[in-house]
Amino acid sequence: MRLVEGRSLAAEIRRTIGQEAGRLRAEGAPPALAALIATDDPATAWYHDAIARATADVGIDFRTVRVEPADARGVIDRLDELSADSQIHGIICLTPLPPGLTLARAGERIAPRKDVDGANPTSLGRLAVGLPAFAPATAQAVMELLPAARARLVGADAVVVGRSDVVGKPAALMLLREHATVTICHSRTENLASITSRADVLVAAAGRPGLIGAEHVKPGAVVIDVGTNAAEDGSIVGDVDFDAVAGIAGAITPVPGGVGPVTTAVLLRNVVAATAIARRR
Ligand code: NAD
Repeated sequence: MRLVEGRSLAAEIRRTIGQEAGRLRAEGAPPALAALIATDDPATAWYHDAIARATADVGIDFRTVRVEPADARGVIDRLDELSADSQIHGIICLTPLPPGLTLARAGERIAPRKDVDGANPTSLGRLAVGLPAFAPATAQAVMELLPAARARLVGADAVVVGRSDVVGKPAALMLLREHATVTICHSRTENLASITSRADVLVAAAGRPGLIGAEHVKPGAVVIDVGTNAAEDGSIVGDVDFDAVAGIAGAITPVPGGVGPVTTAVLLRNVVAATAIARRR
């Protein structure tokens, strides 16, 4: 079984970004990311702080925009301002959002050229028809990890567990683009194991700790675990029962240290790309 480490891949991506960010800064266009936050959820604060540290490491400017009190109008107004702000090249809208405001609705206010985490439904639509667009960073991270796992995609059976707009759907679209035969499973899927156990590539993105056990995995399959769930003892666990699956899978990503670090690195890469695009306009 191959353990597909995300940290080393993330470090590699960040090295390249650091050089590119330095070049843009020297040309007078320092890349800048804004994160909008409208919650005091500790998991969101943790993710925000991780992004802040990562931007500092690679030389990307970072601005936090807090919406207090958290209301839908405030979120929309701040996103409109950031979309129009020429000093900002990338925008990420952290969740959860205030009641009544979905990420898709908020994402509509992010200019597509600054939509570095693929929250604008336009980005997902463009992805679906093969036009250039920023895909959600987590779904991109899944695709980045597959070569490291030596996954064969053309004609392979790929099963994605989870149909969210930010992970499951975009990951499925990207697998389809690589010519896999894609099945999407979700909370209403019947007999999950009968479907996942056919998968050559299995992407688990349900947010259910330990959902994927030995009976869900085909011998030799590549298993990408997107799940990031808080366990009772405070540790972070994936959707895959790692110990049960490790002896069956051909390759597997750990949690933590798999998809997570690559997601952050991809987000930064998108900010640098958005800055370079803005300079060419
Ligand atoms: P979500 O709650 O929006 O979607 C979960 C999906 O899983 C839904 O489509 C639902 O139908 C499906 N699902 C739930 N229970 C299921 C079951 N028993 N069987 C089959 N399908 C089931 O969550 P999300 O935002 O897509 O995130 C999914 C997981 O990925 C979470 O654990 C989240 O924390 C993690 N995540 C990780 C990163 C990262 O960078 N590592 C980023 C985003 C999300």
